[in-house]
Amino acid sequence: MSHGEGTGIAFFYHPDFAGYDFGANHPFRGDRFDSFIRSLEERFPDVFGRLDLRTPERASDELLLLAHTRSYLERVDSLEKRRGFLSLDTQVLPGSVEAARLVVGASVAGARAALADSLAAGFGGLHHAGPNYGEGFCIFNDVAVAAATVLEDGLERVLILDTDAHQGNGTMDIFYEDSRVLFISLHQDPRTLYPGRGFVYEIGAGKGKGFTANIPMPMLAGWPLYEMAMDEIVDPLIQGFKPQLIIRNGGGDPLYTDILTNLGLDLDSLTRLNRRIAGRAKELNVPLLDIFLSGYGPYVTEGWLAIIRGLLDEPMELSIPEKMKRISGREQAMMHESMRRTLDELMLLLKPFWNVFQ
Ligand SMILES: [Zn+2]
Repeated sequence: MSHGEGTGIAFFYHPDFAGYDFGANHPFRGDRFDSFIRSLEERFPDVFGRLDLRTPERASDELLLLAHTRSYLERVDSLEKRRGFLSLDTQVLPGSVEAARLVVGASVAGARAALADSLAAGFGGLHHAGPNYGEGFCIFNDVAVAAATVLEDGLERVLILDTDAHQGNGTMDIFYEDSRVLFISLHQDPRTLYPGRGFVYEIGAGKGKGFTANIPMPMLAGWPLYEMAMDEIVDPLIQGFKPQLIIRNGGGDPLYTDILTNLGLDLDSLTRLNRRIAGRAKELNVPLLDIFLSGYGPYVTEGWLAIIRGLLDEPMELSIPEKMKRISGREQAMMHESMRRTLDELMLLLKPFWNVFQ
């Protein structure tokens, strides 16, 4: 397996993703996908040349039903006809359902491509859509459908590593009682950010107990605390679970300039995080699908370029003309202390299910 080294990697993109748009003045607009592709092509033609752009097909009802209920699909269709709302922040505008189906199709095809070629990427991560609900700009959960599809195809263990700034409540709910999917989420402290889920004590239920790991990050966490979480929780769980596929639900929204979040990662940190995940997958010879689509504010493209830079381990000159807030030594010590408590508590909760924490 080459893990994309020096060669092309499949990247799933459809121009009609532009239809995934929530209208003027909404932080999620559909032009983000095309802007990124154009920017990569113009500024970094060599890196762009490494992407093997593939056009996904729309996901059928049959696929969507692997993660959603039939009554939910019917509700989405009827809401689209009257421009109704799934939640306060998520209006179903005409065309957005078709675009959501394309995003799901992309992640499903991406998961299969990763299994065939060891590495694939694309736009995805609609992780706030649950079995029978949609919210947080998410209509259908492409991450969950992709994982459920490869399980249907015969896989037994899939890791979903969600590093979007927001906790992936939809993905968590869909697999909460399922031990075939290990769901790990690093997200901003739910007491300070939507969706207000993803506390350490949410570790799964029934057969799935111990197969959900939530790592709430303090506000302005920055790279050192991410590294701590990766070292102490994520790496041991990967070692214990032995996934046959990793789906990394990334996103540009942990970036310090993001207008909705406060996680304090700079461009280099987004790159480091991605390089580390891709490097681990490669070392362990586990296929990796890396998907992202979040990010709010003026530097979404720059954040996504930082993700690609880490994934492909390419040198790319990136910058943001806006300084990061300085954090005092005292604030840093307090955040470290709070992170320490979170990780200790989580390890204690997971210990009965994982001998890697003994
Ligand atoms: Zn997000």
